[in-house]
Amino acid sequence: MTRLERYIHPYWGFIFLTLLIKLLGAVTELMIPWLMEIMLDEKVPAGDTAAIYLYGGLMLLCALGCLGGNILANRMSAISSGRITKAIRHDLFERLQHLSARQMDELTVPSAESRLTSDTYNINQLLARLQRMGVRAPILLVGGGAMMLAMDATLALVLLALLPIIALVVYFVTKTSIPLYTRQQTVLDKVVRTVQENITGIRLIKALSKTDYEKQRFHAVNGELTQVDMKAGIVTAITNPTASLVLNLGLTLVVLIGAYRVNSGAIRSGVIVAFLQYFTMILNAMLGITRIFVMWSKGEASANRVADVLATPEDLTVLPAEASEDKAPHIEFRDVSFSYTGIGKNIDCLSFSLKRGQTLGILGPTGSGKSTILNLLLRLYDPDSGTVLIDGQDIRTIPYEELRKKFGVVFQNDFLTEGTVADNIRFFRELDADALTRAAEAAQASFIAEKGGMDAEVVVRGNNLSGGQKQRLLIARALAGDPEILILDDSSSALDYQTDAKLRRALRSGYRDTTTVLVAQRVSSLRHADLILVLQDGCVIGAGSHDDLMETCEEYRIIAQTQMGAEKEGA
Ligand code: ATP
Ligand code: MG
Repeated sequence: MTRLERYIHPYWGFIFLTLLIKLLGAVTELMIPWLMEIMLDEKVPAGDTAAIYLYGGLMLLCALGCLGGNILANRMSAISSGRITKAIRHDLFERLQHLSARQMDELTVPSAESRLTSDTYNINQLLARLQRMGVRAPILLVGGGAMMLAMDATLALVLLALLPIIALVVYFVTKTSIPLYTRQQTVLDKVVRTVQENITGIRLIKALSKTDYEKQRFHAVNGELTQVDMKAGIVTAITNPTASLVLNLGLTLVVLIGAYRVNSGAIRSGVIVAFLQYFTMILNAMLGITRIFVMWSKGEASANRVADVLATPEDLTVLPAEASEDKAPHIEFRDVSFSYTGIGKNIDCLSFSLKRGQTLGILGPTGSGKSTILNLLLRLYDPDSGTVLIDGQDIRTIPYEELRKKFGVVFQNDFLTEGTVADNIRFFRELDADALTRAAEAAQASFIAEKGGMDAEVVVRGNNLSGGQKQRLLIARALAGDPEILILDDSSSALDYQTDAKLRRALRSGYRDTTTVLVAQRVSSLRHADLILVLQDGCVIGAGSHDDLMETCEEYRIIAQTQMGAEKEGA
C-alpha cells in the first residue's frame, strides 16, 4: 500500500477524524461492562434505586453513542476509501491508455482488465476495513485486556496467556496466504482471457464445432482457479475456528476459575459478568484483526499489481525535433529492422520511399510482416534500428497529436462500435455531414441508403452488417478525416472484384494527394500501386511496379498467375 500512499495523502485529515470517532466509540464501548459491574456489585446490593437508574441510563447513553459513532465513522470510511479508489482507478485507466503497444503486449489485455476491476476493488475493501477495524479492534483488544487486569489480574493473566496461540496462527496464515492470493489473481487473468477469446470467437468456434474443445479449455483454467481458491480458503479457514475455540475456552475458564475466586472472596460476582462481556469483545476484536490480515494480504498483492502498472516508464517518448530534409519523399523507411520479442527479426533491413499521392501495395504470406510495417509507420512500435520518416522528419520527433492526425487507418480485423452509421464514420471527431457523405460515397458504401441512411443502427461490433458492409464503413471512417496517409490493412478482402475496383478508382480521383499504403492478398487490389513490396519472413523479396515484378519476381508472378487464373475460371 505504501506505493499508493500519494492517493491516500489528501484524505489523511478525514481519515484521522474517522479513526478518532472510532477510537471514542471503542472507549465508550469499553465503559459498558465496567458500569455494569459497579451497578451489580455496589448499587444493587445497596438497594439504591436512583443510582441504578443513573447507571442504567449511563450504559444506555454509552451504547447509543457507540452505535451512532460507529455508523457515522463507517460511512465516512466508505466515502474516503471510495474516493481514493476512484482516483487510483482513474489514473490506472489513464496510464493504460498511454502504454505503448509493446508494454501492452507484456501486460496482456485481460490482466489490464482485472487490475482495473478486481484489484482496485480489493484495494477499496482494504482501505474501508482498515478504517472500520484498524483502530477499533486493537483498542478493544488492549482496552479489554487492561480493564480485566484492573479488575482481577490473576483471572485476566490466565486468559491473556491464550492469546499467543492465536497470534501464531494468524502469522502462519498470513505468511502462507499472500503468495496464494497473488497467484489467484494471475489465474483469474487466465480465466478472463479464456472467456474473452471464447466470446470474441464464438461464431468461429461454433462453425468449426470446437465447442467441446473450448469447454475443455475453460474447464482446465476453471479447475486451476478453483484449486488456488480452495487452497487459499483452506489456509485462511483455520483462523476463525481456532480463534473461536481458544476464546470460548477462555470463557469457560472465566466461569470456572471465576466461581472459585468468588467463593473464596477474592472477587465480587459482578466481575464474572463483566469478564464475560470483555471476553466476547476481545473475541470479536481478535477475529476483526484476523480479517484485516487476510484483507491486507489480498489488498497488498492487488496494490502492488496496480502500482506496477502506474510505475511503468514512459515508452516511445517524442525526441527533440531536427531540421527536416528538403525535397524529401512523403514516406520513407530507411534500413528499418524490428523484432517484437528480440528473438529473430520480424522486419529485416527494409528501405523504400513514396512520394505524396503515391500508393504502396504490400503482398506476402501470413506472418510475413505486412501489418508490422504499418505498426512501425504508425509508431505503435519503434524500430530496433533504422529510421521511419514522414516529409523527411524522423517520426520519433513528431508530437503524437500531429502524427496521429496524418493517418486514416483501417486495421486488419478492425471493428465497429454500437451506435448509428454516422457515429461510426465520425468516430468522435468533429466532422460535418458533407464529410461523412463524401467518405461513404468514396468507400462505395451505397448499402447505407438501403439500411435507412446515416441514422441506421449499428449493433455491437457491427454484427448486423455483412463482412463487406463492415469493411466499407471502416474505409469510410478512415477517409472521413481527409487523411494525409491512408492505411488499409487487408480491408477490402470481403469486397467483390467490381466494388474493389470502383473503390480504387474513387480513391485515385477523389483523394489525389493522399498517400496510400495498402495490404492485400489479391494481386488485383494492388496491381495499380506505384510500388509493390513482396514480403517473406520480414524480408523484401521483390519491389517495383506490377509489370516490373511480373518480370523480376518469380513468387509474385506465380501468385498473380494463379489468382488471375482463378478469377477467369470464376468469371
Ligand atoms: P497476416 O497476413 O496474417 O496479417 P502479417 O504479414 O500482417 O500476416 P504480422 O502481423 O506483421 O504478419 O506479423 C509478423 C510476425 O510477427 C508474425 O510471425 C507474428 O507472429 C509476429 N507478431 C505479430 N504481432 C506480434 C506481437 N504483438 N508480439 C509478438 N510477435 C508478433
Ligand atoms: Mg496482418
